[in-house]
Amino acid sequence: MRDECGIVGISLGAGHRDAPVQIYYSLFALQHRGQESAGISVHDGKGTRTKKGMGLVPQVFSKDDLIELASSTGIGHVRYSTTGASSIENAQPLVINYRDGTLSLAHNGNLVNSQELRYRLEAEKRIFLSDLDTEVIAQVFIKEFSRKDIRGAVKDVVRMLSGSYSIVMLIDDKVVAFRDPLGIKPFCIGKLDSGYIVASESSAIDVLGGMYLRDVKPGELVILQNGQMETEQLYRLKHSAHCLFEHIYFSRADSILDSKLIYQSRIKIGERLYEEHPIDADIVFPVPDSGITFALGYSKGSKIPYLEGLMKNRYSVRTFILPGQDMRETAVRLKLNTIKANVAGKRVVIVDDSIVRGTTSRRIVDMVRAAGAKEVHVRIGSPPIIAPCYLGIDMPTRNELIAAKKTVRDVERLINADTLGYISLEGLVSSIGIPEEDFCTGCLTGTYPVEITGERCTTSQLKITEFQKKNLKYGAIL
Ligand code: SF4
Repeated sequence: MRDECGIVGISLGAGHRDAPVQIYYSLFALQHRGQESAGISVHDGKGTRTKKGMGLVPQVFSKDDLIELASSTGIGHVRYSTTGASSIENAQPLVINYRDGTLSLAHNGNLVNSQELRYRLEAEKRIFLSDLDTEVIAQVFIKEFSRKDIRGAVKDVVRMLSGSYSIVMLIDDKVVAFRDPLGIKPFCIGKLDSGYIVASESSAIDVLGGMYLRDVKPGELVILQNGQMETEQLYRLKHSAHCLFEHIYFSRADSILDSKLIYQSRIKIGERLYEEHPIDADIVFPVPDSGITFALGYSKGSKIPYLEGLMKNRYSVRTFILPGQDMRETAVRLKLNTIKANVAGKRVVIVDDSIVRGTTSRRIVDMVRAAGAKEVHVRIGSPPIIAPCYLGIDMPTRNELIAAKKTVRDVERLINADTLGYISLEGLVSSIGIPEEDFCTGCLTGTYPVEITGERCTTSQLKITEFQKKNLKYGAIL
């Protein structure tokens, strides 16, 4: 599974020109959220300039690029594509020149009504240059902005969009940021020595020595200009729908999300996992890196010693699929290897964040058995994934998800584990400490927080639909 993007916006006070350098470091801290392309747009007082390219942040920007972009205000983006092909045309920030100026826009999330909006705009003779839902958001904004101020335009844009979106825009020397009213994607605000920053995760603020202030609230508008910040709550719904997998997997363990330190939540999830699925064993170890904090929690709760059993090759970015089973297994061994001396003759507990297709779990269990483990017990820090994600996480279809059609005992057999235990949804949300009704649980329950054709929707989904209808009909509500 992959998240698709990380975003940053920075505004520094007069006389400061190092916004692009700071954006560069922040993007570097968000690199785990997207490795396909990176981009920075700045406003230098005269105009907007953008540099973007394919690859990792340090591959895209040279020192000279950052010197050339010198300015006090800008936005940045790292991307992994879920909507639109992986190509330079689709790299962000997206830059659109319109009648009165230039708009740069970067987006984390996925719209579920972008086709519908696009058809409407195309019928009005608007031309699209990419297949991104991000361009739909930009075009809707430009249309509204041609007859309203920023606040009014954003307010109307939010009424029209359905799906997940944290957005940062550069309009002249202003950074304009907003988060969808359900707060599906993460977004936070930090204070820097000489200004403010908005970013997908607080680790992007920490890297600059800044101070995390708080999350951008669902439905909130944030405007940064000349190192100052203004905020306004445009919409407020009764419930949020934060993505649970940000807490389980996507966000860095050192990030604070929805006011919770991810590391602490993952330790508690590991402890709860032991309470729900205890076992007698000699050692507990994670599938690195995603299972590390859960395994520490499981060890803490169970008093079973934590000892590394698998070593990750830090330089293998992704495993490509090779023809033939043997080569596929070699590819997995290139990524992970067992530490035989720690595993041989032992009853082991392997902890991971999730099981998607089950193929990697099966290979890991087989590797650990081949290294001489006496018993192999698998514990998972999320409930079974039974449905796809439509809200910005690249996830397989129902047919490919092992838990979509199999029972836990079937999965246990298929991955060749002696026992398999997933944390319950109730155990998971109580470990994080946010009520279940404030989370999106679509991929775990098959019930989504926004309207998706052919899928069930939650109460908050009905609320957002009513909210949108009401707004379209009666104007803004707060
Ligand atoms: S469906 Fe799952 S992965 Fe997608 S936003 Fe909801 S919780 Fe996150």
